[in-house]
Amino acid sequence: MTSDPQPQFVGTSTVELYRASASDLDVARAAWVSQDEAAHAKEAEAGRIEGLIRFLWRNHHTSPFEHGQFTFIVTTPLFVAREFMRHRTFSFNEISGRYTVLPDVFYLPPASRPLRQEGKVGAYRFESGSQEQVDLVRNTITANTANCYVAYHRMLDAGIAREVARDVLPVNVMTSFWATVNPRNLMHFLNLRSAPDALVEIQEVAAEMEQHFAQQMPVTHRVWREALFPS
Ligand SMILES: Cc1cc2nc3c(=O)[nH]c(=O)nc-3n(C[C@H](O)[C@H](O)[C@H](O)COP(=O)(O)OP(=O)(O)OC[C@H]3O[C@@H](n4cnc5c(N)ncnc54)[C@H](O)[C@@H]3O)c2cc1C
Repeated sequence: MTSDPQPQFVGTSTVELYRASASDLDVARAAWVSQDEAAHAKEAEAGRIEGLIRFLWRNHHTSPFEHGQFTFIVTTPLFVAREFMRHRTFSFNEISGRYTVLPDVFYLPPASRPLRQEGKVGAYRFESGSQEQVDLVRNTITANTANCYVAYHRMLDAGIAREVARDVLPVNVMTSFWATVNPRNLMHFLNLRSAPDALVEIQEVAAEMEQHFAQQMPVTHRVWREALFPS
C-alpha cells in the first residue's frame, strides 16, 4: 500500500534579485541630460548628487527615477501574489498550474503572526492570538492543506488535466513569479506595501525588496524613506 503524498510547509516568502540596472547616478544623469554634461560630471565626481535627488523627490519630479529596472523572483503564497499583481506598473511572469504539477510547498503562518483583528474598517489593529488560537490556526491549516494536496494528486493520478486538478488547492499554495519594475514604481509599491496596515505577509515581501533597492540606490532609498517616515 502506498502512502498519501505529504505537503511541505514554509513560514516565509523569498525574494531574489535576478537583475538590477539602477543607480543614484543614473537618476542624476537623467535629470541633467538637457544641461551642460561636463559641469555635471564634476558634480557627480564630487559626490554631489544627494542634494539633487532630494530636490527632485521633494518637488515630485519623478521621471528621472523611471530609467532603471529591477527584476525580482518572488516566491510567496497565492494570496500574497494576488495582492502583489494589483500593481499594474510591474511586468509579471508566473509558474503555470496548467503546464506543471505545482510544487508541494504551502505557507503555514508562524506562531508569531498576529491572529486577532480588532477595531473597524480603515483602522484595524492585529493582535497576537492565545496559544489555543495559534494551535487552532496551525492545526486547521495543516490538516486542510494535507487533504487538498492528497485530493490534487488523486485527480492527477486519475488522468485529470493539471489545470482542472489544481482547482482543489488552497490559497496558501506557494507560487513563484518574476516581477520587473522601474525605481519610481517600486517606491510606490513600497509606500503601500511596507505600511503597517498592509497584509503582514506582503510587508515581509516588501521588506526584502526594499533591502535590494537600498543596496542598488542607497541615496534614493534614504531620501524616499525619510519622506515616507519623517523623523
Ligand atoms: C492596505 C491595502 C488594502 C487594500 N484593499 C483592497 C480591497 O479591499 N479591495 C481591492 O480591490 N483592492 C484593495 N487594495 C488594492 C488597491 O486598491 C490598489 O489596487 C493597489 O494598492 C495598487 O495600487 P495602485 O493602483 O496605486 O498601483 P499601480 O497599479 O502600481 O499603479 C501605480 C500608479 O499608476 C497610476 N495608474 C496605473 N494604472 C492606472 C489606470 N488604469 N488609471 C489611472 N492611473 C493609473 C496610478 O497613479 C497608480 O497609483 C488594497 C491595497 C492596500 C495597500
